[in-house]
Amino acid sequence: MKGIFPVERFQNVETPFYYYNADLLRETLNVIRTEAGKYNKFCVHYAIKANANPKILGIIRESGLGVDCVSGWEIEAAIQAGFPASKIVFAGVGKTDKEINLALDHDIFCFNVESVPELEVINQLAAGKNKIARVAFRINPDVGAHTHANITTGLAENKFGISMQDMDKVIDRALEMNHVKFVGLHFHIGSQILDMGDFIALCNRVNELQEKLYARQIIVEHINVGGGLGIDYAHPNRQSIPDFAEYFATYHKHLKLRPQQTLHFELGRSVVGQCGSLITRVIYVKQGTNKQFAIVDAGMTDLIRPALYQAYHKIENISSEEPVETYDVVGPICESSDVFGKAIDLNRTHRGDFLALRSAGAYGEIMASGYNCRPLPKGYTSDELR
Ligand SMILES: *Cc1c(COP(=O)(O)O)cnc(C)c1O
Repeated sequence: MKGIFPVERFQNVETPFYYYNADLLRETLNVIRTEAGKYNKFCVHYAIKANANPKILGIIRESGLGVDCVSGWEIEAAIQAGFPASKIVFAGVGKTDKEINLALDHDIFCFNVESVPELEVINQLAAGKNKIARVAFRINPDVGAHTHANITTGLAENKFGISMQDMDKVIDRALEMNHVKFVGLHFHIGSQILDMGDFIALCNRVNELQEKLYARQIIVEHINVGGGLGIDYAHPNRQSIPDFAEYFATYHKHLKLRPQQTLHFELGRSVVGQCGSLITRVIYVKQGTNKQFAIVDAGMTDLIRPALYQAYHKIENISSEEPVETYDVVGPICESSDVFGKAIDLNRTHRGDFLALRSAGAYGEIMASGYNCRPLPKGYTSDELR
């Protein structure tokens, strides 16, 4: 198991840093291409907010995926990495005029529109450029995902999207406008979803809405079901590639696509989550009253998920083969929530050992902050450190 990390290569690298297994990422992308490719008209976009490290984007671009962006800066990062604008979709509840103009200038594939005021602004800005913007409506399907409350997005109470009751009205508005073209429906119910039943509930809801539109003789070209497929944080080695076969088969089985329709996906975590680890050095081992602490040089500024979502990341000592002892693994930041794990079993740990926080490829490096005037962590791929 320790064999998956080239520990000797880490000796001269400044910690903490992200280590990305490029071979695993390529393998994951191959599985996505094969499994989605089994179905005609399945089109996968990478949700760039999960990880926008240019080295990672380069590998993903080679695989031919499109991109899902949630800000103008993400659009710029995608273009910079060589993704074609014709494969970029743009979501977000608060797109500014500047971001919309940028997207119009690049002629992106589609805006996923989340409100009528936004639709009006897109129409107006597109008119100013004498363009027609392709728009899909993000519908809030009121479908719950059985995941952490902070990462469920498809309930009526969430800020995202347009309610189902308002769908017809919004479509009517779009059909009156001269500088938007209504091309699709968009959905995204949440993240880290492992129960296929949640995706089936979404399919059923999409089928209902399609029936309603069909009664009005409207058939959209594009259905976009967002992302959300989860990864196995507890067993990063046992299931290093999520079950994409089951995921795509679920949509194939339950979502009734009309003959001309394309089905779009926006996968983030499931693409990059398992290929990344945060590598940190132990600064001190400190004996507490009833416990011992492994104090490491990475903190919540480098990986905020445990502090923000009480997320679990498997922690391994990749320098030691000694008998297992129990530690609280904590960072150096002046916040009590700067804890990566309590009562963690690690091979006996010493100052200077490397620990790996696994499954950190998604929402890790990209969420890093400079709190305490700390520098942002760097990311290296296995291609560089071989
Ligand atoms: C975050 C996000 C995604 C990706 O979610 P994952 O859980 O990482 O797959 C897809 N679509 C939209 C609109 C998002 O905001």
